[in-house]
Amino acid sequence: MKPFPRAEISRKALKHNLARLHELAPSSKVMAVVKANGYGHGLLNVAQCLDNADGFGLARLEEALALRAGGVKAKLLLLEGFFRVGDLETLVEHDIETVVHHVSQLEMLESVTLSRPVTVWLKVDTGMHRLGFAPEQFHATYQRLLSNENVAKPIHLMTHFASADEPSNSSTLAQQKVFDTLTKNLPGDRTLANSAGALFWQSSQADWIRPGIALYGVSPVLGDLGAKHGLLPAMELVSQLISIRDHKAGDSVGYGSFWTAKTDTQLGVVAIGYGDGYPRNAPLGTPVLINGRIVPIVGRVSMDMLTVDLGVDATDNVGDLAVLWGKKLPVEEVAEHIGTIAYELVTKLTPRVAVCLD
Ligand SMILES: *Cc1c(COP(=O)(O)O)cnc(C)c1O
Repeated sequence: MKPFPRAEISRKALKHNLARLHELAPSSKVMAVVKANGYGHGLLNVAQCLDNADGFGLARLEEALALRAGGVKAKLLLLEGFFRVGDLETLVEHDIETVVHHVSQLEMLESVTLSRPVTVWLKVDTGMHRLGFAPEQFHATYQRLLSNENVAKPIHLMTHFASADEPSNSSTLAQQKVFDTLTKNLPGDRTLANSAGALFWQSSQADWIRPGIALYGVSPVLGDLGAKHGLLPAMELVSQLISIRDHKAGDSVGYGSFWTAKTDTQLGVVAIGYGDGYPRNAPLGTPVLINGRIVPIVGRVSMDMLTVDLGVDATDNVGDLAVLWGKKLPVEEVAEHIGTIAYELVTKLTPRVAVCLD
């Protein structure tokens, strides 16, 4: 018996998307970004499925340790670096690479003697203004790392784009130029591009691309679809109808009697709600796929359930599948209805949703 609700993850789609990214960035290695539980697709599942990725990008030390504990031998990089001095020896012990983006990390690296040097990616702030050393600080920081015996040589180099998901925003090229100028003639690998960089800014692909969302078959760009780039959606979020009732014109449904039927109809109740990570703020009309057709959400999403208008002539049955997003209902489209981005929908699923690999 398959559990409900469940996120069905397609291994085939994940492998296809990695191959497609290699095709789109033929000269680059791929650092597959699997932070946030593999964008909700299952951290270890995704890493084991993508065993031919050149490395994996993570946001937390615990995520990297979970991959090592699961037997993943590949290169691992902490994209936000280490947070505490005590983590440094753990990085060395488990062969985990780290970004260095802040002077506090330099100070920590200078305050200890590690059993082996740690591999470091120096992050430059070329315009995102979130993490990274300002261009004016870059050379001095580079020298400080160079003279630090805890730091493996060569030092690798990275930056992150603020607006690569806006294909007509030239700030991406400006960021790239700052990075190229600063790092010219230095040894070490370079990485700039997230999914949007890899898909839309070919000149930024460099030694490594760092795709996250595209690996899962989703476009990083609003109004766009992963499918347009030859990517396949890797997640299908599925639940089932647990009730179908006749509903009279003028009757409302759910908390706050948020919606009132204009005509007689049949209402279906789907076993998924905000307790599973389906957003409570999904507006009236948000699409759900049932028996091959799109039906609208009506009423408020509650913790364990949501209601859909099946129509007066519906022939659906209790137990039929309801797809919240997937191949035939792209998560990008659902996100647009809800006023968010697909990233948030897939990463916010709660542990109550079973993640099932096909
Ligand atoms: C999350 C992250 C990525 C991946 O971003 P996508 O938009 O999902 O491709 C790449 N680089 C860094 C530094 C990140 O934090």
